[in-house]
Amino acid sequence: MSTYTVLNPATEAPVAKVPSTTVAETDAAIARAVAAWPAWRAVAPGDRAAVLRRFAAAVDSDLDNLAGLEVTGAGHTIGNARWEAGNVRDVLTYYSAAPERLFGRQIPVPGGVDITFAEPVGVVGLIVPWNFPMPILGWGLAPALAAGNPVVAKPAELTPLAAMRIAELALAAGIPEGVFQVLPGKGSVVGQRLVDHPAVRKIVFTGSTEVGKQIMAGCARHVKRLTLELGGKSANIVFADSDLEQAAATAPYAVFDNAGQDCCARSRILVQRSVFDRFMELLEPAVRGVTVGDPASPATQMGPLISAAHRERVAAYVPEGAPVAFRGSAPGGPGFWFPPTVLAPVRADDPVWTQEVFGPVVAVMPFEDEADAIALANDSPYGLSGSIWTRDVGRALRVARAVETGNLSVNSHSSVRYWTPFGGFKQSGLGRELGPDALSAFTETKNVFIAA
Ligand code: NAD
Repeated sequence: MSTYTVLNPATEAPVAKVPSTTVAETDAAIARAVAAWPAWRAVAPGDRAAVLRRFAAAVDSDLDNLAGLEVTGAGHTIGNARWEAGNVRDVLTYYSAAPERLFGRQIPVPGGVDITFAEPVGVVGLIVPWNFPMPILGWGLAPALAAGNPVVAKPAELTPLAAMRIAELALAAGIPEGVFQVLPGKGSVVGQRLVDHPAVRKIVFTGSTEVGKQIMAGCARHVKRLTLELGGKSANIVFADSDLEQAAATAPYAVFDNAGQDCCARSRILVQRSVFDRFMELLEPAVRGVTVGDPASPATQMGPLISAAHRERVAAYVPEGAPVAFRGSAPGGPGFWFPPTVLAPVRADDPVWTQEVFGPVVAVMPFEDEADAIALANDSPYGLSGSIWTRDVGRALRVARAVETGNLSVNSHSSVRYWTPFGGFKQSGLGRELGPDALSAFTETKNVFIAA
């Protein structure tokens, strides 16, 4: 069996050898999922709910181990990794309440009765990126299982360890064989096969917009159902009337969290010109204050980048002579480190302003007024997330309605709660995850008329 090695991004030391799944093995796993489906969809709603709650409890009792896998295998800070494992537990718990609430409707018609059913869609292929391996797995897995579907998941090649452990926990908790399988390996092999195999009825893909477009084209051949969560280039808009101290103190964490490897990273800061200089004065100590270092230390706020290749990509956005306003720190020696970096002034056509960097690099630009801020924020093919800082409630609402993006926060940077919808406008994605409606992405509506 061919294998590959997972590295610790903070030390470059090998962590584990992982099997590289082949196309034939992927087909065998899909066949097991197809075989497992009839019994899984027939499990009584209350029993399916109970096994999902047992699964959530198993994740909870393994939380420290799961968090540790993400610290050593993905370079996540221990604080983040614990939150991420807890998020898997919480998402499973939230959707464990869904099986008994998977209602259809009764629609008045002449000559009989009309009712709808929410039928499970079938085998779900779940393709996960390396930046948040646990939460993104959970966001697809939990509602798919709750709706009565089997799931074949492909973790990112660089970060398969937590997903493999979660599959073990699922089995131990009583999720039947074949209902949830994890296939580590290459996107071009396992991921591609999930897209191409006719028995996989739905793909949930989170990753780059570039690969997302290829997957959308592949799904078109089968009219395969598809959810896409793709890239972002989100704006953090700071108006002159805001609590400037608070806006500046929190801005680094809105972009440097997870070393900037966050689709929701607010990597463009727009600041009203009248307070631009003051904002930069306040931002500098906040950036220099970010604790970058050993991800296993509870005090650490930012760890390394995921790989040497990714560090090269990020570094290319800050070439010699780039307009670096100021930088934070990063350890020397082994590990894929890159310091928090603030660029200003930048041109509106600079790649660092237009492209997703996916690293700890932020650019700051002044704007004149509300209309200018909205135009700059919307001048992007992406539309995933964003923040608005103002004390004027009317302006907050006007700007929130005008910015073409799926998840906004006002006077805050939080955009992800498992019980509220998440997803992107424009090239940031298709469909929504999380929240009360997520099961509709894993069911087909069947309409039945009964003459009476
Ligand atoms: P990626 O697109 O390179 O890979 C994502 C996954 O797709 C991996 O598991 C990969 O192996 C697989 N893959 C690659 N080629 C494939 C193919 N031809 N067919 C099928 N599967 C294939 O993305 P990445 O570098 O792992 O993740 C970073 C990207 O993910 C960023 O652009 C980021 O913005 C995005 N992202 C989006 C969200 C969101 O919710 N919108 C969340 C997290 C990350």
